[in-house]
Amino acid sequence: MIRIYNTLSKKKEDFIPLEEGKVRMYVCGPTVYNFIHIGNARPMIVFDTVRRYMEHKGYEVNFVSNFTDVDDKIIKKANEEGVSAEKISGRYIEECKKDMEGMNIRPATTHPLATQEIDGMIDMISSLMEKGYAYAVNGTVYFRTRRFEEYGKLSHKNLDDLQAGSRSLLISGEDEKEDPLDFVLWKPKKEGEPYWVSPWGDGRPGWHIECSVLSRKYLGEQIDIHGGGEDLVFPHHENEIAQSEACSGMEFARYWMHNAFLNIDNRKMSKSLGNFFTVREISEKYDLQILRFFMLNAHYRSPLNFSAELMEASKNALERIRTAVDNLKYITEHASACELTEEEAKFIKETDKFEADFDRSMDDDFNTADAIAAVFDLVKFANTHAAEGSSRAFAQALSDKIQSLCDILGIITEKKEELLDADIEELIEERQAARKAKNFARADEIRNLLLEKGIILEDTREGVKWKRA
Ligand code: AMP
Ligand code: ZN
Repeated sequence: MIRIYNTLSKKKEDFIPLEEGKVRMYVCGPTVYNFIHIGNARPMIVFDTVRRYMEHKGYEVNFVSNFTDVDDKIIKKANEEGVSAEKISGRYIEECKKDMEGMNIRPATTHPLATQEIDGMIDMISSLMEKGYAYAVNGTVYFRTRRFEEYGKLSHKNLDDLQAGSRSLLISGEDEKEDPLDFVLWKPKKEGEPYWVSPWGDGRPGWHIECSVLSRKYLGEQIDIHGGGEDLVFPHHENEIAQSEACSGMEFARYWMHNAFLNIDNRKMSKSLGNFFTVREISEKYDLQILRFFMLNAHYRSPLNFSAELMEASKNALERIRTAVDNLKYITEHASACELTEEEAKFIKETDKFEADFDRSMDDDFNTADAIAAVFDLVKFANTHAAEGSSRAFAQALSDKIQSLCDILGIITEKKEELLDADIEELIEERQAARKAKNFARADEIRNLLLEKGIILEDTREGVKWKRA
């Protein structure tokens, strides 16, 4: 039985799906105005792993994750570059998908865009108005927060404390609201911004309504799991609950899961603090499998500090698994005996316990750190018991077992053949040095070696340039 820590109840609960054998899950995706940073990658890796484990347990998972493609930051970037907001979001959605592929994050069942569902948002806002949960003032529509009696149930905040905290909003020009706790569902257009026609005037939707509508459209009124980073608990997810439940009269999501932050120097990694690395930058130095492995070495609810040392440690640890798989492959290819011996059959039976440990860890609120420990126990077992005299069937079975556990975690055990940017640059430097020393044979050798890997060098006046073929 899978148990999930539910932010709503602050407890681990047994996972019982709404519909037998099926999981409906929604994860808030990124706002696409730049390359994603490795903090944004954490929820992607975490929930991709949740999905993979659910599938391993036999569930059919309908996984929806949006791209927020209308937002102040996108509009700002578009104005800076003198292009449309659509151009900016389109570009960074493509880049995000490339990064996801590098981290072996499977595409969601559906990746809806906010701008594709504006009609649905207008519909939901209209029905909230009909039910008395929303009102329009001067082209802005607000949600009447106090009308939704359970407001605060996810973030465990009480309305009066919130009221005290939101007084500053009154000063910031939102005094047309009935109550400082009310939040925006629709806002009027500003000069130079994209807009859509609505019953309340031209404008665009607020951020929170997007997820309520996309989730309902692709997964129905009730879903099993809703996920995102812990910064989204309040106000974003609290507001999603208010909108969806006020509209449907039903519980929106059964289990609310939130990953803790990725920090750097023990401070939250964020765009506004400027202390972030993009996934793309990391990919120049490391195979992105190492980043994924690094993230899964911590429990998703524990804060995780990013450092070069920890990445190096992850690189070495992953290498240990890969070397074991390589050795087993070698044995499989060179074995003289095919069938399992009686003793080997007994050993294979013994490995069941590592798989059981793995599942037990994952069942316990997706404890990937302990699950990885079980993978290492299996690796150690394989290293101890498989050797050159082993049968092909034995080496193959051990290798299959290691790979199938890694596959649940989305870790690829095959070594990446492709050269990293940093390796290429190092080789180019070596070639330059060889040329300087008039060692042309070595210089040509490097050029050919790079060519074999699909890297084309171009000697220009500004120095050597390279590209991938
Ligand atoms: P955003 O594009 O800011 O809306 O963020 C997209 C997702 O990344 C959300 O689920 C955030 O909670 C999550 N996120 C942003 N920064 C971090 C971080 N440093 N660590 C973990 N998750 C993060
Ligand atoms: Zn959301």
